[in-house]
Amino acid sequence: MTPYKFLFDRTLPYRKVAFLDRDGVINVDHAYVYQRNEFDFVPQALEGARTLYQKGYALIIVTNQSGIGRSKYSEADFAKLSFWLAGRFKEAQAPLSAIYFCPHHPEKAFAPYLMECQCRKPQPGMLLSASKDFDIAMSESVLIGDKSSDMTAGKEAGLARRILVHTDGTRPLGNTTDSTDIAQNLYEASQLL
Ligand SMILES: [Mg+2]
Ligand SMILES: [Zn+2]
Repeated sequence: MTPYKFLFDRTLPYRKVAFLDRDGVINVDHAYVYQRNEFDFVPQALEGARTLYQKGYALIIVTNQSGIGRSKYSEADFAKLSFWLAGRFKEAQAPLSAIYFCPHHPEKAFAPYLMECQCRKPQPGMLLSASKDFDIAMSESVLIGDKSSDMTAGKEAGLARRILVHTDGTRPLGNTTDSTDIAQNLYEASQLL
């Protein structure tokens, strides 16, 4: 469905997946982060990812990036940061299988990104694309995010667990509708599984 993806591991065997939101979960959400020097990891995020990997979850990032559609940064900028990020995950022994992103916005984007798409969370399109690209045990898979839109996307895609975490690990907890669990941050979420 969405062509907006980077696949790092094309031979992923049948497996459960931990789908990870990016901003507010992996990195501090400074808004429209697209450069390494703005990319501040949430404390213990990589340790949390490694724990999930050790517990048998493949790791896939699913992230709304309307900053592309809004011309705050380009697809090339996002690609550069994403490949750097994949390197950091690999070094942390938590290799990413893929990153799916949505560059669209229904009102605030410029062409060709101005559209009501199926990939922008709370739509489940990125998760459904991943399940087409890979052999994923969706009913055994989990999504970890900091917004109710993440939780809704996970529910729509048929994921058993949707863990809502505090944005940046510190900000007040958002709307818990459609979540199944709550945790302080990605590391704490990894301990629940
Ligand atoms: Mg987020
Ligand atoms: Zn989209």
